[in-house]
Amino acid sequence: MKRVSTVLAASALVLAFPHAFGQEATAVLRRASAAMGADELKTLRYAGAGTGASFGQAFKPDLKWPKLDLASYARQIDYAASAMHEDIMRSRGEPKGGGAVPIKGEGRAIGVVSGQFAWNMAGPLPTPRQAALEGRLHDLWTTPHGVIKAAQRNNATVKWVPGNGKELAAVSFSEKGILSATAFINDQYLVERVESRTPDPVLGDTAVVTTYSDYRDFGRTKFPMRIRQTMAGSPVLDITVKEVQPNAQVSIEVPEVVRSAKENVTVEKAAEGVWFLAGGSHNSAAIEMKDYVIMVESPLYDGRALAVIGEIRKLAPGKPIRYVVNSHNHFDHSGGLRAAVGEGAAIIAQAQSKAYYEKAFANPNRIAPDHLAKSGKKTKVVPVSDKLVLDDGARKVEIHRIHPSDHTDVFLMVYLPNEKLLIQADAFTPGPPNSPPPAPPNNYNQLTLVQAIEKRKLQVERHLPLHGRMVPNAELYRAAGKSL
Ligand SMILES: [Zn+2]
Repeated sequence: MKRVSTVLAASALVLAFPHAFGQEATAVLRRASAAMGADELKTLRYAGAGTGASFGQAFKPDLKWPKLDLASYARQIDYAASAMHEDIMRSRGEPKGGGAVPIKGEGRAIGVVSGQFAWNMAGPLPTPRQAALEGRLHDLWTTPHGVIKAAQRNNATVKWVPGNGKELAAVSFSEKGILSATAFINDQYLVERVESRTPDPVLGDTAVVTTYSDYRDFGRTKFPMRIRQTMAGSPVLDITVKEVQPNAQVSIEVPEVVRSAKENVTVEKAAEGVWFLAGGSHNSAAIEMKDYVIMVESPLYDGRALAVIGEIRKLAPGKPIRYVVNSHNHFDHSGGLRAAVGEGAAIIAQAQSKAYYEKAFANPNRIAPDHLAKSGKKTKVVPVSDKLVLDDGARKVEIHRIHPSDHTDVFLMVYLPNEKLLIQADAFTPGPPNSPPPAPPNNYNQLTLVQAIEKRKLQVERHLPLHGRMVPNAELYRAAGKSL
């Protein structure tokens, strides 16, 4: 009986199969483009609200991305310019984990991409963010109309697959360096779902599933009122769309400061054989040992990591970078680790990160082959539960866990007992000279760090923070509302 009904169901599917699609991807895409109004769509604005998540900012490796409430979510797209402007008002949906989201209240995040340039807006000021380039282009070209246009220019192929009781056209394509994708098109010629892969600096080729439902008409343009998305298997977006404006005025200009930006690495000597490497949004440090170098932090992406590594090679010629210390699991701080591994460095990370990195870095990056992929090297992780000391007789380097902290459970800092220097990320970010203290001290920031220093009785004189500038320890205590 069961077998018979399966056969019947299968033939019912074949009967419902919209053969009007034609057999070729080009024909399917032509019909979908016409049905969705993609042909004449040059620009688009849409806006809504819902929930999201801070991708890559989990409290611990392997946890889901921390939830966000999105009070507003607005995008502007210019397809011909390959440009998209995203403006989000967001607040935390849960207290723990990273992301540049205030502990209390709302924060605004503006991310932009145009052609080969990506940047963020902090108030009126554009900040280059090339590490986000591929991810943003992926997002642009997996929108309902974007994916049709991208498939049309990339020799797509089509297969027929069972859908929700009806057959779907699964149109697949890839665009070098940016994404591979399959758009599932239903018998109304609407994109129901996009299953794609984006090259991520930490995870390599990363699975993204975007679901589009509840399509409505806006003139000749059809657009979904509900958009849901997962990345690496966990939700990052669920919004209800409230406004759609096809062919609205959209003008996204690449600012000169972004167009002319290069990965700039400034070198400041903090002590004999210890350098503070800044010049971008995320800093690193280099510590010269007798026979090798320790790189502290390899942030963002290959572009940043390789610029920093190039500088370290000049500072300590002939010495291998044996270790790279990873301050914590957040992707902006671990996005350059693959490059450091590609240079032969072993990663020193909190013990809970070991299995995560080993698995993540074994995942290939086929869409945009990176330094690690090209090197053929294997990931080695030296786990630190609470404390690790590297001592070669000439210099002593201590690696301590910052614990507890609501920012991350896998937080490490580097302490040089003879030089009385401390290197840490995110717990304490000094602002420009004479600026008001950063956010009120709490279990997420300065307070965590002061507690960790006092618990371990570290004699810190100066900080080499992985965001911001070198400052004396008094600045941390002032920011924490404490006296030394
Ligand atoms: Zn962080």
